[in-house]
Amino acid sequence: MKIGVLGAGQLGRMMAISGYPLNHQFGFSGYSANEPSALLGHMFAQEDNADNIESLVAFADVITYESENTDIEMLREINKDIPVYPGEKSLFTTQHRGREKALFEQLDIPCAPYKMVNSLAELEKAVTHIGLPAILKTATEGYDGKGQFLIRREDQVKEAFESMNGVESILEGFVNFKRELSLIAVRGIDNDHKYYPLVENTHHDGILRLTIAPAQNIDPEVQKTAELYMQTLLDEMDHVGVLTIELFETENGLVVNEMAPRVHNSGHWSIEGANTSQFENHIRAISGMPLGDTTPTHNFSAMVNIIGKIGPVKIALNMANAHLHLYDKTERDNRKLGHINITADSLVALEKSIEQLKEFLPN
Ligand code: AMP
Repeated sequence: MKIGVLGAGQLGRMMAISGYPLNHQFGFSGYSANEPSALLGHMFAQEDNADNIESLVAFADVITYESENTDIEMLREINKDIPVYPGEKSLFTTQHRGREKALFEQLDIPCAPYKMVNSLAELEKAVTHIGLPAILKTATEGYDGKGQFLIRREDQVKEAFESMNGVESILEGFVNFKRELSLIAVRGIDNDHKYYPLVENTHHDGILRLTIAPAQNIDPEVQKTAELYMQTLLDEMDHVGVLTIELFETENGLVVNEMAPRVHNSGHWSIEGANTSQFENHIRAISGMPLGDTTPTHNFSAMVNIIGKIGPVKIALNMANAHLHLYDKTERDNRKLGHINITADSLVALEKSIEQLKEFLPN
């Protein structure tokens, strides 16, 4: 099939790398011919966005996207001609934190208490209602911790409101979590579901730095609960493709933070760490192929992000159990440039390998 990807970043790049052995072809729309996917397929990058999308749609049998910030009107237009997966409901819900939270509530999925905020008066009322500390976030377009303000004291409320620059926001109660986890799953056109194990994520300055897969010391009941939340969401949104949910592990069980209608940075370990990677499974799902087995290939995997600077990647190239993935991007502060996957059969070996890569991790 000819698969059209809206976007041309590292996620599209890794989708294409996984999709070529299945005999698919790829086309991308991006902003320039220098993007990470540009050399991996037909590139429909042009200044004029409308023409760009039209030629991508003319090329493709099916369209997918890299980001929840994809224009929903564009998705509706494309959908008149060819299928877009994940579909309208998945994109509409996940691109707005308020709609996402409302769906969690409707489906009895635990999430932080929240209030939508459009004025300083509404924020003051929301703070009284939810209490402090609380986090004010932009309702749309936040990523990697951007567009967020942690309000600890009453006297920060005005500053927090002003930091949102007048855009619609959401105030969320602060969740006292033990760990941050995520669950990745895939749903096929035929309603088949497959789940990866819960993984543990460590962030620094709002950016994911390390994923351990599977997360350690997870009670099977907790995995089951997370899968149940996932299944409910997949079915409710009639989702086709990969869906990611980010969760907090707390004393009182799992609390869902947010979801993404796409392959996710916390699933990159699956390239070498699972029988079928998240990328291949997304491509299988949207092209109507049977889904692949998600069982881990090793007892332990880890993913170390390469952020800002490429760094001493030779270390990884000299490790028997490490795999380097670079995205063909230029160095810039806080930019995701690549990642290193590690596989190991014991926890000791995993920890030793992570230690060998410590130069890639924040102190
Ligand atoms: P998000 O953009 O929603 O993923 O938030 C970025 C990071 O901020 C998360 O990975 C958490 O570390 C933290 N965070 C977000 N929401 C909350 C919350 N309600 N309570 C505590 N920490 C949060």
